[in-house]
Amino acid sequence: MSRIVCKFGGTSLADANQFKKVRAIVEADSRRSIVVPSAPGKRSATDAKLTDLLYLCRQSVEVATDFSPIFEPLRARFLEIERELGVQANMTTHLEQLRRDILRGVSRDFIASRGEYLNGLIMAAYLDAEFIEPAEFILLTANGGVHEDTYRLLGERMAKTDRRYVVPGFYGRDVKGEIKTFSRGGSDISGAIVARAVQAEVYENWTDVSGLLMADPRIVPGAKPMEEATYAEIRELSYMGATVLHDEAIAPVRQAGIPICIKNTNAPSHLGTRIVNKLSAEVEKSTEIAGIAGKKNFVMINIEKNLMNKEVGFASRLLSILERYGISFEHCPSAIDSMSVIMEAQQVEGNIDQVLEDIRNTLKPDRLELEKQIALIAVVGEGMAKTIGIAAKVFVALRDANVNVRLINQGASELNIIVGVAPEDYEKSVNTLYHAFVTA
Ligand code: ASP
Repeated sequence: MSRIVCKFGGTSLADANQFKKVRAIVEADSRRSIVVPSAPGKRSATDAKLTDLLYLCRQSVEVATDFSPIFEPLRARFLEIERELGVQANMTTHLEQLRRDILRGVSRDFIASRGEYLNGLIMAAYLDAEFIEPAEFILLTANGGVHEDTYRLLGERMAKTDRRYVVPGFYGRDVKGEIKTFSRGGSDISGAIVARAVQAEVYENWTDVSGLLMADPRIVPGAKPMEEATYAEIRELSYMGATVLHDEAIAPVRQAGIPICIKNTNAPSHLGTRIVNKLSAEVEKSTEIAGIAGKKNFVMINIEKNLMNKEVGFASRLLSILERYGISFEHCPSAIDSMSVIMEAQQVEGNIDQVLEDIRNTLKPDRLELEKQIALIAVVGEGMAKTIGIAAKVFVALRDANVNVRLINQGASELNIIVGVAPEDYEKSVNTLYHAFVTA
C-alpha cells in the first residue's frame, strides 16, 4: 500500500485542539500512516514557541540563573496537552527527567530536541502509533549532511505498511553518537528524510497557510496560492526571500521524485500547493509564472574600462579579489566595456572601502562606482523559456508604474527574470508585477 508522510509544524500542534485536527486529518486518509511532529508552536502572535523556551532554559543554566520561570510554562503546556487529549504519555516523569537534564547541563542540541521528542510521545499515544526514536536512525555526517544508511535503516524500521508511526522532527544523531538538531525549522528536513526512506507517495507538509503564495502577502494583500510549482521554482523563490520550506528539505524528496504538498491544518480541504519535478500539462498551459519574490539589501559595484572585452583575465582578477575577502556574489551582469557584481550588503560590511581600493589598484578601471542600495526582484516560472512576451510584460508593467530598472539579469536556465530597482520602488514593483501576471 502506498504511504503518505505528514509533517505537522508548530502551530499545527500548539495545543490539544490542534492535535485533534491533526488526528482527524490522519484518519481521513488511510495512506497517512507516518507522522512527523514539530514541537508545539505559538497559539497566538504573542505566545512562545516551546523550542525557544528550551533554548532559554539552557541559556539560564549557563549563566547560573534559576530557569524555573521559563520551565514552568513549558511544563504546563505539555501537561495540558496530555490531559486535554486524555492520553497517558508519562509526561510528568519525562518532564521531571528533562528538568534534571537541563540542570546537569546536557548539550544545547539535546535540550532543544526535547520539544519534538515529547510532542512525538504524546502524538504516538494519541494516534496509537509506534514511536520511532530519530537518534537511532537519522545519522548525520561530520559536515551535517545525512548519512546514506539513514534511508535504509529508517525504511527497514518502518517496513510494515499497515502500521502507524510517529517520528519526531528536528533531530538525529551525529558521528559521536550524540543528539544533533538541524537548523531552526528543521522538522521539514526530518519529514523529507522520512518520506524518502519509506518511498512515500507524497510528502505532506502541514502548516498554517493554504499553500505557498505567489507573492509576499504583506506587500500584495490577497496574493493567490500556487496550485503547483516545481522544486526548481521553489528554490529560486525561497532563495530570493520567500519563506517556504526549510532550504534543505527539498533535496531528499527531489532526488527520489516524491512530490511535496503544502497543506493547511486549519483548512484541510483546501488543495494547497504541490511541489513536483515537472509541472502537469494543465498547469503548464494555464500559468505564466510561479511567483514573485525579492530582497532589499544588496549592493552593486559597477566597473567600466575601455576595451575591457579584449583584456584577458579581467573577470577572473575581479572575482579573485572578491574571493580573497571571502565575498560570495549573486549576479555578475556585463557589457562590452563594463561589468557589475551584486552581492548582499552584509557580505561587504566593514570592508567595502578596502575591496574598492583593491579593484582600483589591480584593474585600473576608467570608472568605479558603488551603488549602496539596490533591491532585487525575481519573477520566477518554468514556463518562461517557452512563452513569448513574459519579459515584455515585466518591463511594460514597471514602466507603467514609473519604476526605473537599474539592472536586468536572466539566467541560462530561463527560470527567472531578475530586475534591480531602488529600494524605495521595491514594494510598488512587486505589486505591479504581481498584478501584471495575475488577474483577480
Ligand atoms: N522546533 C524547531 C524550531 O522551532 C524545529 C521546527 O519546528 O521545525 O525551529
